[in-house]
Amino acid sequence: MPIEFVDLKSQYSRIKVEIDSAIQQVLDDGRYVLGPALTEFEDAAAQFVGAKYCVGVSSGTDALVLPLMAAGIGSGDAVFVPSFTYTASAEVILLVGATPVFVDVDRATMNISPASLVAAIDRVRDAGDLNPRAVIAVDLFGLPADYERLGSISDEAGILLLSDAAQSFGGQAGNRRVGTLAPVTATSFYPAKPLGCYGDGGAIFTDDESLKDVLVSLRTHGTGSHKYDVLRVGMNARLDTIQAAILSQKLAIFEDEMSKREHVAEAYDAALADVVEIPPRSPHLQSAWAQYTIKTDDRDDLQSYLGEQGVPTVVYYPKPMHMQTAYKRYAGEPRTLEVSTRLCDEVLSIPMHPYLSPEHIDHITSSISRFFRQ
Ligand SMILES: *Cc1c(COP(=O)(O)O)cnc(C)c1O
Repeated sequence: MPIEFVDLKSQYSRIKVEIDSAIQQVLDDGRYVLGPALTEFEDAAAQFVGAKYCVGVSSGTDALVLPLMAAGIGSGDAVFVPSFTYTASAEVILLVGATPVFVDVDRATMNISPASLVAAIDRVRDAGDLNPRAVIAVDLFGLPADYERLGSISDEAGILLLSDAAQSFGGQAGNRRVGTLAPVTATSFYPAKPLGCYGDGGAIFTDDESLKDVLVSLRTHGTGSHKYDVLRVGMNARLDTIQAAILSQKLAIFEDEMSKREHVAEAYDAALADVVEIPPRSPHLQSAWAQYTIKTDDRDDLQSYLGEQGVPTVVYYPKPMHMQTAYKRYAGEPRTLEVSTRLCDEVLSIPMHPYLSPEHIDHITSSISRFFRQ
């Protein structure tokens, strides 16, 4: 059997009966938009996370856009975002008409650097042409960002802290789950994320009731209690009922899958710690292990060697956001983004999913060791 980078088929065969019947129930019920299975999933997800509210939306991208819209962020506003991330984290800032300000990351955690954030806020204040309004902290590869420090920095600066937890649903800081670490958290249920549906989907978590009401309104065209009462400019950004029904079934086995991912990560750690730079561990933080990402100067050669050995790998990400064509004009001072730039030449994500067999793990780790012994 070939090694899969992400194995969605094994998961489906594990819960095929439950998934098929959950889909069938929605088809029989006929309420495809905002049906009862959506509320059921939102309640289950909020409870799982420990947040008061969960608002199901159409994607992780929309889960980031709606809180920015709810905060009235737009033209003339600065939103801080790490340069080493997926494009959606930065794109949403321009979609609401605000200006992205790229911030560097910490080399070890690959998450937003609090020191770099403070410096960027100061620079924007000194320049005086933009109003600092929000920071989007990304939990890259599943590892929660440093929300304790980010919380005090954003409080002090008077800006919104929005968590991009598209990759970290299931992660934890101390005994608090991702979804409760920031005032607002956005996640994605894209199929390859730790909790994925069978299409696009996402959710927003918050404890703030009035924010939740605005988000619920925004995801249905900004309507009020009456369908044709329009309070604000919104979008069509609802999570499909069918996807919610699927997600409820997947959430039921999610904790088991999380511990399986942790076991894979521990096996990788044990075999690779002396061979290559492995992801950082902290007693305080639990990664959701969306990816297991190693760092090496020999990245490109290692990747082709692993390809020959039947080990699929992916480079997340080959180019930092401040060097992308779409964002070049917001690059700012490249000197302040050196870590992000360098990481793009060093990172390599190896297969990570709950159903990796011990034989496959052994083949992957021994191939990596063999490459470095050559
Ligand atoms: C996947 C991802 C998103 C976007 O989620 P979609 O559901 O694909 O819209 C946003 N941010 C990060 C960091 C992601 O990995």
